[in-house]
Amino acid sequence: MLHLAFLLLLYFLPAIIGRQKRDATGIFLLNLFLGWTVIGWIIALIWACAAQPYAPVNWVPAAAATRYCCQCGTLTYPGAHFCAACGRSV
Ligand SMILES: [Zn+2]
Repeated sequence: MLHLAFLLLLYFLPAIIGRQKRDATGIFLLNLFLGWTVIGWIIALIWACAAQPYAPVNWVPAAAATRYCCQCGTLTYPGAHFCAACGRSV
């Protein structure tokens, strides 16, 4: 039983490696449907290693012109002199 679990883990290794990547769905589908052919498994593994990691961009609109507290990381409203969360001057 442990042997079967290990083989299953080894079979889905490309999907596990690429699960945080942008092309995670494509890597998983290639791994699932063509992984049984050795070349499909190798291509999925290379794709999983080569794909760019998913990096979300935290975008803050400049028009809001909020102030940022360096102590706790809270965005306070414009013109504020003190942080509403921790009370430190911003
Ligand atoms: Zn604060």
